[in-house]
Parts: sequence; structure tokens; C-alpha cells
Amino acid sequence: MPVQSPIYRRVLLKASGEALMGSQGFGIDVSVADRIAADIAEARSMGVEVGVVIGGGNIFRGVAVASAGGDRVTGDHMGMLATIINSLALRTSLTKLGVDAVVLSAIAMPEICESFSQLKAQSHMDAGKVVIFAGGTGNPFFTTDSAAALRAAEIGADALFKGTQVDGVYSADPKKDPKATRYERITHAEVLQHDLAIMDTAAIALARENNIPIIVYSIHEQGGFGEILRGAGRCTVVSD
Ligand code: UDP
Repeated sequence: MPVQSPIYRRVLLKASGEALMGSQGFGIDVSVADRIAADIAEARSMGVEVGVVIGGGNIFRGVAVASAGGDRVTGDHMGMLATIINSLALRTSLTKLGVDAVVLSAIAMPEICESFSQLKAQSHMDAGKVVIFAGGTGNPFFTTDSAAALRAAEIGADALFKGTQVDGVYSADPKKDPKATRYERITHAEVLQHDLAIMDTAAIALARENNIPIIVYSIHEQGGFGEILRGAGRCTVVSD
């Protein structure tokens, strides 16, 4: 029984790999994974269907190989594998809380998790499972932001939640510029026009084409996800 009416029925949550590493310089801080899982559990208790995309930047990014003179495609394969490690960590945290969760990977590895298909994702979500989309888009030269926008469109999400280090979209980097102001609402077009780096341009364009609002909020604020789902909370809504 939902405890309070949420403003979205089905959402896609994108968290960067860096969010998972907490104050460590690398890898996964299990307490952070547990906290993000608790936020997702709260959303489920409200009756919201949740899909998740986790990045891999806490473990590996393809550009690291390319900038060291290596092959970018191999580097990106390594980055996509990193997202699968993170996805398994989040599933573990969700399982500990009694939340039914499944990992669907864009890169087949049947011994470890199910392979992604849109139909499978829909059916798991219809059954009330949290679906964690691992392996990015499955293609090099993309990011997990683009994967998040793609999966949001494929599952018919009402909103794409982008969990970041700050509580919304600012006119400049608030950590560097004390005069930076926070937007309550902004359009996809304005984000692209002013080059406000909240997600990569492919992700924003895909969300815009599919009329999916992007909700930018702080992933570090415990309970923040649930607050926004209740129609309150601090965030910027990117919507046309
Ligand atoms: N990646 C990729 N294709 C995708 C998604 C990710 O090749 O569709 C690789 C890419 O090397 C990227 C890495 O996986 O640098 C980790 O993803 P991302 O940088 O988006 O993670 P985040 O910054 O969100 O932690």
C-alpha cells in the first residue's frame, strides 16, 4: 500500500560511480551504497517503480586508457565492466533491505546477471522489481548519462533523476563561483544553449526528444529522493 501519493509513477535514477566511492579516492564505500539503496527502498514503499543506471567513474573511465596512448574502445569496455561491478554492489545493498532488485546488463554475462532487453526490463518493472541497468549502452564512446536517458525512454519513465554532488542546476559551478545562482526550473534547450554541464549533450537531447523531465538533485542528501517524489525537496526541474 503506497504511504503517500508520489508525483511520478516510474522513474530512472542515474548515480555516478563517483557518488558510490564516498570520501574514499577509489572503489565502493558500502555505507554509501546502502544509503542510496535506502532512498530507493523508500521510493518503492511509496509505490514508485524505479530503474537505476550507475556510472563507473569510481573504478575506471575509458579516456584514461586513451590518454595514456592506448585503445579507447578497450578502455571503454573496461569502463562498462566497472558499471557492472557497481550495479552488483547496489543490488547487494537493496537485497539487504529486502528490496527485490535485478541487474540487466547491456553486455551479456549470463553467469553473473541477466542480459538487457527492453521487454525484460518492462516485465521486471511491472512486477515491482528495481531494475539496475548495467554496462551502459553496451557501446564505446558513450557515457552512462546517455545510457540513463536511453533506458528512461525505453521503460517509459516519467522522469530522469540525476543525482549529483549539488542540489540542482547552477548558473556556474557553485563550488568555484560564490555568485552562482540555482535554477528552480530550466528548459532542456537552455541547458544545451548555456552549456550547463549537468549531463552530456546526447543525454539531454534524448530526454528532450522524448519529453522526459530531468530532475537534478543532491545524491548525498539522505531522503532527498523521496522528498522530491512527494513534490517537495530541493532540486532543479529541467523540462520543456
Ligand atoms: N562507457 C561506455 N559506454 C557507455 C557507458 C559507459 O563506453 O554506454 C564507459 C566509458 O569508458 C565511461 C565508463 O564506462 O568513461 C564509465 O562511465 P561514466 O564515465 O559515464 O561513469 P560516471 O561518470 O557516471 O561514474
